[in-house]
Amino acid sequence: MSEIKLPQDFVSYPEARKQAFMKLKALKESGRRVVGTFCTYTPQELVDAADATPVSLCAIGEDNIPPAEKVLPKNLCPLIKASFGGAVTDRCPFFYFSDMVLAETTCDGKKKMYEYLGKIKHTHVMQLPPGQFGEGALAFWKSEVEALRKDLEQFYGITISDEKIAEAIKLRNRERKAILNYYKVGALKPSPLSGYELNTIITSNEYAFDIEKKIEFLEKRTAELTEKYHKEYEGKPSRPRVLISGCPTHGVIDKVIKRIEELGADVVGFENCCGPREKADLVDETKDPITAIAEKYLRINCSVMSPNPGRLETLGNMIDEYKADGVIEVVLMACHTFAAETSTVKDFVTKEKGIPFLSITTDYSTTDQGQIDTRLGAFIELMS
Ligand code: SF4
Ligand code: SF4
Repeated sequence: MSEIKLPQDFVSYPEARKQAFMKLKALKESGRRVVGTFCTYTPQELVDAADATPVSLCAIGEDNIPPAEKVLPKNLCPLIKASFGGAVTDRCPFFYFSDMVLAETTCDGKKKMYEYLGKIKHTHVMQLPPGQFGEGALAFWKSEVEALRKDLEQFYGITISDEKIAEAIKLRNRERKAILNYYKVGALKPSPLSGYELNTIITSNEYAFDIEKKIEFLEKRTAELTEKYHKEYEGKPSRPRVLISGCPTHGVIDKVIKRIEELGADVVGFENCCGPREKADLVDETKDPITAIAEKYLRINCSVMSPNPGRLETLGNMIDEYKADGVIEVVLMACHTFAAETSTVKDFVTKEKGIPFLSITTDYSTTDQGQIDTRLGAFIELMS
């Protein structure tokens, strides 16, 4: 079993979430506004411009699932069930401290779940168009961005100026660049950075509420790792390099990402919402802020969009840039949109890019760990 390279002060994702509870409580007690969010499509700049802190409500943990299944069907994605379970049982302090919820109509399960959340707390649901390219898609989505601005203004009794939004765009773009540069350390061969650290830091950073401090931390860690690469790794042999694709992996970091590395490969990058899917694309700072925000978020390559050609384009670029030897797709159980894309993605990876592909469907339980280990082990051998 290989040891994973981690910094001395490494904090696991569940631990980072726990530590964030107290930080958020203190923020809330200081009078700060808090908006709970779920998805990469959330225009965070508008929340910032309302002087509110966005906090992710995407929960993990098997124990949140049974309470959710009292209301929601069992054959729903674990991310949806865990998030709902955490909210309805008051186990999720992030939901508890949120003044309101900001959600988007992405997949069917999520949008129906939001109807139930709306019974507990003010929930603003942004209607996403079903595709990025249809005539009127951008105009419609832009009107949804404007509607969000109005709702935030009414809910908090404030006015959100264009100047405030433009300021927030600049800050979030700086954050995006810092995150992207950190991801790019994984492209060095051999990678001086564990994919387990990468996935953990990026998802834990959702709970680092001071954006300036977050940027500072990421820039420091990127510099440390780059120096480490030149001193200790450059020119040395590399383990097989894996690119992760598919659904968000924050709920299966230990079960899949950590195991890949323990079994002898390096996870070097993520083509999912725990990766640069949204970060690689900045908001245009030269345009009217609402138009720029609408354009930017509509470009996100999620499988909820039909068609979704940008995913293959990004995947192809990342396979080259991160020098991947294989792609492992993680599909959360009952995520129909990503599952339906698997065949297309498999053909693209194996036939056009000429590297092996493995798709794993899993949930937040540990019952399939043995089976997953066997499949991962065989795949790593294939790449070696
Ligand atoms: S995978 Fe799609 S629906 Fe899920 S968080 Fe990402 S953008 Fe949102
Ligand atoms: S992983 Fe799939 S089913 Fe689950 S919330 Fe995201 S898009 Fe929906």
